[in-house]
Amino acid sequence: MELLKIEMTILKSKIGLLLLIGLCFSGILYAQKTAPPATRPNIIIIISDDHAYQAIGAYGSKLMATPNIDRIAREGATLNKAYVTNSICGPSRAVILTGKYSHKNGFLDNEHSKFDGAQNSFIKELRAQGYLTSWIGKWHLETDPQGFDYWKILPGQGAYYNPDFVNMDGSTKRLNGYVTNVIEDEAEKWLDNRDQSKPFCLVIGHKATHRTWLPDTADLGKFDQVKFPLPANFFDQYQSRVAASQQDMTIAKTMVMGYDLKMFGEAEEEKESTFKRMNEAQRKRMDAYYKPIYNDLISKKLKGKALTKWKYQRYMRDYLSSALALDRNIGRTLDYLDAHNLKDNTLIIYMSDQGFYLGEHGWFDKRWMYEPSFRTPLVMRYPKVIPAATTSNDFVLNLDIAPTVLEAAGIKKPQDMQGESILPLLKSVKKAGRTAVYYHYYENGEHAVSPHFGISTKRYKLIRFYKRVNQWELFDLQKDRNEMHNLYGKKAYAEITEELKKELTALLVKYEDTDAQAILRTEN
Ligand code: CA
Repeated sequence: MELLKIEMTILKSKIGLLLLIGLCFSGILYAQKTAPPATRPNIIIIISDDHAYQAIGAYGSKLMATPNIDRIAREGATLNKAYVTNSICGPSRAVILTGKYSHKNGFLDNEHSKFDGAQNSFIKELRAQGYLTSWIGKWHLETDPQGFDYWKILPGQGAYYNPDFVNMDGSTKRLNGYVTNVIEDEAEKWLDNRDQSKPFCLVIGHKATHRTWLPDTADLGKFDQVKFPLPANFFDQYQSRVAASQQDMTIAKTMVMGYDLKMFGEAEEEKESTFKRMNEAQRKRMDAYYKPIYNDLISKKLKGKALTKWKYQRYMRDYLSSALALDRNIGRTLDYLDAHNLKDNTLIIYMSDQGFYLGEHGWFDKRWMYEPSFRTPLVMRYPKVIPAATTSNDFVLNLDIAPTVLEAAGIKKPQDMQGESILPLLKSVKKAGRTAVYYHYYENGEHAVSPHFGISTKRYKLIRFYKRVNQWELFDLQKDRNEMHNLYGKKAYAEITEELKKELTALLVKYEDTDAQAILRTEN
């Protein structure tokens, strides 16, 4: 009797299994029949360069209004804890493309690395599944793009005025106008002429707001009436932080009066390639704006802290003015989607390649695992999937962009991609996010920032500097938001330090960062 029961149960489960297989199979057939390629979402990723979250309305900025970036946030999601794995231009783009840390994709720094375009990328995965793929604007990965149906890129950093573009046939052509406007024009041209039977993935790579923060002539003087408050740690003395005390990226000493702030006499200006490429009308407007400021500065004879404070105001005015055109052109992309009925079926992501210092610690530039450069703005809109006005405080990384896009497109993430899709964190029923993130910066040259790696949890950050400076730093982010007090080695923090080191080691194993593992081994 008992045996019969068991046999019956097995039989039932076999029938169940067969039924299930049958259902799945018909489901697949059904899906194939009813889901034509056109219903797959389009994807637009707008990647700016060096755009600080401190200058974006959606992140609470009072410095300027960014109505268009804010619109993406309002109609979609704001990621409040978005970070990069290596805070510098080329490396961040390589991470975005591959979904892999720098030590895996090979693009470690801007000084020696060339991107190996033969490796896999989310672009190649999309293209293999029938997507049209395109990258327009700043690329900065040293080798030509691979896996794209179309590309048109700035050579290297590119120019703000009348920029050259490298085309797929290898030719270089100068296009007239201000770079942010021209890149948007080219992106829309590509959208107009694309094969509309296929879903598309378009990456718009902006040069703004990269150094030297040259605004569109239309935006000159927009912030001249504003006096920007100095960040609380503007005159940081870098006590207890050796690497920070040895850098070369302060507004006071490193920021150049001519090159950066356009304060030069006639003869100096002639040497500036940025100014030399302008046409007569552009040059006239530039001179009409900057010359009186230069003359006023000369008459003031400022020195010391007074001069540094003056530089800060100029820096902010140029930086934020160059961000005006960025936000405006993001608005043009949104308008294009509206006008062409593409809004509902397009996942649009806006992000910077990393954050940037707007005077915090007395700095400009990026690189550090400290918040202003480690964090990046990231907003995304996908009406079908992400509820409007979603905010997320889960840790996400630029490493996650590739898996996110693939999930949206219904493509399985390749096993060796190290990121995780962000979408499950943004749906009405949320998945739990990471408890910690891993960071590794390699470059050891410009601005004299020591290479370092580390771990950040919501409460603490543990950083290991090496090569230039050998030191640990520990910060309690809850008590010390501005990361001024290195707590490493203090008795009260011994236990948490050990815990963080264990977590860090686990992440090094998970991400297979053998170089960092070797550095830690030398300590034990
Ligand atoms: Ca950058």
